[in-house]
Amino acid sequence: MKFKLIAEYFDRLEKISSRIQLTSLLSDLFKNTDREVIDKVVYLIQGRLWPDFTGMPEIGMGEKFLIKAVAMAYGNKEEEVEKLYKSVGDLGEVAYSLRSKVKGVSILSFVGGSQEAGELEVTEVYNELVKIATSTGEGSRDIKIRIFAGLIKKATPIEAKYLVRFVEGRLRLGIGDATVLDALAITYGGSADYRPIVERAYNLRADLGDIARIIATEGIEKLKNISPTPGIPIRPMLAERLPDPEEIMEKMNGKALVDYKYDGERAQIHKSGDKVTIFSRRMENITDQYIDVTEYVKQSVKGDNFIVEGEIVPVDPESGEMRPFQELMHRRRKNNIAEAIKEYPVNLFLFDLMLFNGEDYTTKPLPERRAKLEEALTSNDKIYIASHIIADNVDKLKNYFYQAISEGAEGVMVKSIGPDSIYQAGSRGWLWIKLKRDYQSEMADTVDLVVVGAFYGKGKRGGKFSSLLMAAYNPEKDVFETVCKVASGFSDQELDELQRKINELRREQKHPRVVSDMIPDVWVSPTLVAEVIGAEITISPLHTCCRNEKGGLSIRFPRFIRWRDDKSPEDATTNQEIMEMYSKQLKKIEEKPVDENI
Ligand code: ATP
Repeated sequence: MKFKLIAEYFDRLEKISSRIQLTSLLSDLFKNTDREVIDKVVYLIQGRLWPDFTGMPEIGMGEKFLIKAVAMAYGNKEEEVEKLYKSVGDLGEVAYSLRSKVKGVSILSFVGGSQEAGELEVTEVYNELVKIATSTGEGSRDIKIRIFAGLIKKATPIEAKYLVRFVEGRLRLGIGDATVLDALAITYGGSADYRPIVERAYNLRADLGDIARIIATEGIEKLKNISPTPGIPIRPMLAERLPDPEEIMEKMNGKALVDYKYDGERAQIHKSGDKVTIFSRRMENITDQYIDVTEYVKQSVKGDNFIVEGEIVPVDPESGEMRPFQELMHRRRKNNIAEAIKEYPVNLFLFDLMLFNGEDYTTKPLPERRAKLEEALTSNDKIYIASHIIADNVDKLKNYFYQAISEGAEGVMVKSIGPDSIYQAGSRGWLWIKLKRDYQSEMADTVDLVVVGAFYGKGKRGGKFSSLLMAAYNPEKDVFETVCKVASGFSDQELDELQRKINELRREQKHPRVVSDMIPDVWVSPTLVAEVIGAEITISPLHTCCRNEKGGLSIRFPRFIRWRDDKSPEDATTNQEIMEMYSKQLKKIEEKPVDENI
């Protein structure tokens, strides 16, 4: 399969902003894709060479390298390329126009091959990009530049444009996972009705390229019977929230398992043979940060292969008491992780089991999963099963909640133990309900919102980005709908960081997956997630979240709390959740006795 075809599709996809059209054009591309390379094509569409969880390196070529490569490929001076880049603002376009000026095959002959432009194969492009990504150490800089220059020399102008954008990490086609899933269902199943099958498979094995390969080469039937595999993350099951213990017990039909809700980092732990891998809430490979945890698991959980889940919590080295989750940040520093491991010890509290010795447990009810977990684990002072009780009345739940808080937990997780209490990978449902400590605010909980635009400040903050246009996620439409403008809560350091973050992600036009009536000073690709708290949710004509004829919903007096790097934009609070919070708030107001307001 020729890479040219893909580049041409990229060019068409980029110009589309309707999700329906994107899906249909993507499906068209899949129809024209050789089945053997479908996984590579899916990764390329996502702007990557492999899923994040593999922990494989990124391409690692910055702007400077790229300018050198473009100059080398087309016989220009670096200064010329740089100047053009400054005036055009897009290195892909620069490569396109410089490549267009290189005439005829004659100029290509000095490339060292007889290959005509437009003859690049997808596999060849992919393999060359892999070489670039995996070359490390001394001299790798020059190797990367040379390989890339060689590649774009053989490319047509349009191929060069998208190769440059890909390597630069600016391939912003606006295609989310949901759109890829729809397009796969349509292409290989025959209609969008097959989406639930494709989605379920993806939830259990979160590798889109792999899912595409299976459906394309082995068919939709094969996907129906897919089970989790050690080494490929499962998309995490998520909890709904409710502030009222009575309502929670009602939802649970009067009886539930109540776990401490630990405030640390979620860890999905896979073991296969001797190899233990840990994935984060975002399914990134965080094994290196928690080598100590991998050892605890090897020593204490029996089983040849399994997938279990728990929360890693920092603890005081002396007393063993739980410490604030922020201490885990020290584990992120790349150099001297060994010291951080020693200085900031952790405990692991396991709360679920999804696979055991090859058997899929995601379809079994929670009591069965927990029984297996307890059977497999020999607890010690590092690794435990999450503290829990079975509550069969509201008072038991309340008392356990207060006990959890007094011991440093964030609240409790109330979990269904009914016959249908399966592990719902990748979805937020009422089988798990979180009850958290109250915040000093009318809003019962914080929300996680996605930055979609930024505004320059005035006065002291003049010339600097100082407020952000924030959006909730609408999973049905796979778009981001605005809910508020956040201008407070940033520390000076966070404000400085903000400038860099925004500059990296700013774009000329609104991202196709953003729905907004407000026009910020700069648009931002929906990537960054921030935790925000506000005073209340109100109806507003300015925002697009949950919009109907009365207006949209917006958060009043929003305040930035922290970045949520562990969340991807699709993990942000959804429009549906904002609507639920709004309804709850209305109910609360109605329930207030009249004289309380006097
Ligand atoms: P979510 O993960 O639901 O999007 P969030 O990341 O904002 O939300 P919380 O609202 O605080 O986090 O609650 C969910 C998280 O609680 C889980 O992702 C998990 O990391 C953590 N957690 C702690 N203890 C437990 C437990 N016993 N069972 C399940 N999750 C737990």
